[in-house]
Amino acid sequence: TAGLTTNAPHSRDELLGGLLPAGMDHWACRSRYESWQYYKHFPYAASPYLQGKLRAYEARHRRCAPGTPLYAKSVEQLRSGRSAERMECTYVVWLPFDGLGNRILSMLSGFLYALLTDRVLLAALPPDSADLFCEPFPGATWRLPVEDFPVANLFGVGQDMEQSYTRLVGGKVVGTATNATAAVTPSYVYLSIGYRLRDRIFFCGEHQRVLRKVNWLLLYSDLYFAPSLYEVAEFQDELGRLFPEKESVHHLLSRYLLHPANPVWSLVIRYYRSYLAPATRRIGVQIRMYGHSSIPADDMYNQILNCSRQEHILPETTNDDDKAVTPTAVTGGDGNGSNNSTAIFIASLYSDYYKRLRSRYSTPHVAKGGGATRVSVFQRTHEERQATDNLAHNQKALVEIYLLSFSEELVTSGLSTFGYVSSGLAGIRPAILLTAFNHKVPETPCRRAVSMEPCNLTPPRGLKCRDKPANEEDLAHHIKVCEDFKDGVKFF
Ligand code: GDP
Repeated sequence: TAGLTTNAPHSRDELLGGLLPAGMDHWACRSRYESWQYYKHFPYAASPYLQGKLRAYEARHRRCAPGTPLYAKSVEQLRSGRSAERMECTYVVWLPFDGLGNRILSMLSGFLYALLTDRVLLAALPPDSADLFCEPFPGATWRLPVEDFPVANLFGVGQDMEQSYTRLVGGKVVGTATNATAAVTPSYVYLSIGYRLRDRIFFCGEHQRVLRKVNWLLLYSDLYFAPSLYEVAEFQDELGRLFPEKESVHHLLSRYLLHPANPVWSLVIRYYRSYLAPATRRIGVQIRMYGHSSIPADDMYNQILNCSRQEHILPETTNDDDKAVTPTAVTGGDGNGSNNSTAIFIASLYSDYYKRLRSRYSTPHVAKGGGATRVSVFQRTHEERQATDNLAHNQKALVEIYLLSFSEELVTSGLSTFGYVSSGLAGIRPAILLTAFNHKVPETPCRRAVSMEPCNLTPPRGLKCRDKPANEEDLAHHIKVCEDFKDGVKFF
């Protein structure tokens, strides 16, 4: 995989070098046209092949979107209980599951799957996230009209095993040629391919052939399963054409699909302009604590500082242990005539680490290596607890994901999808703080990510498929064990 030296100058424009479609209304979604001014990195451009595929997708989406005759026909077919052959429009319905970071990752993966299988992605957005994002596709909605959709208990479908693909295969309701007894293919199945991963067989080519016959797939996932799609032989070549650099998959898909709606975008830029824009350099620090791996706050704070030292991220201070450096005090303004300044933006549910870092930089301090810098520390919110069913809470979370993504450098937390999304959007390989498994402070505080790609935390390990396997040598070049989780896999 090539490094990040491939700067793509053409991406520094409104349409991100052809990634975004032309002709959409600027004012209906300002972030789509303005975000490029805030990103600091443009490491990859969309390949011509990806651009062509996206334009073809958009045309298909317009033909098949809710409100069209073809959509009405497909819903009729869904009501009939059986899938019809040669339907012009087939669908992936994205269902919400878990926190915002998880949801974004499963949306991006679902969209990629729709691209690969010529389907249309529709989002069953619940009220808690209905107004977070702009419509991504020109001239048509991506929202599933949930009220009129003829599947009962749509938002609870992931708890119900009956229509899960593996269950249907087990009951011989549907299946590969040799074991299916039913003459009809059901009109829909749901796929559980998140961390519970009930439908591991989804990642087998022979099952992909069966699923091709099902008009409606209901996607219940909270993970980034793109790397595992690459392990399916029939998707491998196409993914290779779409993304010559595997590290760019999430980066390009997220900049294509995700655009904060105007109210959220206003909050993002207002904050950015007030607090982060004045600095010459921005460092985002995302701290996520999980109950299962909690450690005392002092230990966590030390881990952050040790990580920063190891990766040379946060400015050092006179309080730091290394006394070998001659202090060069900086008092408020432009110390030593330099006008370097650093803004550290903290995203966390709690204010503790913000307070510690703020006090660390509150006294006149120095930067190592002679370059004096003035440091300011910011945190926008500290919500104390996750409240995914609350729109205002989710808006704040999205604002912070974007503020992180406008950094020059990132420190993120292991296992956190919130951090994964920020890094991919930013186009940054973050320093990932390692998780304190069993509450044990990790010996290595963090690892520099091999790529800006999210980790698929629950890949279908040890899966035995009947179909031919993907090219192993190629996989070895593009898929790796994650830095933060030994059972996970990621693109690099
Ligand atoms: P993950 O649990 O870290 O993988 O990330 P998710 O985004 O899926 O779920 C965590 C949820 O907790 C977020 O969506 C927010 O609702 C909330 N949350 C966690 N960390 C932060 C933070 O730094 N800022 C804000 N505003 N919310 C957060």
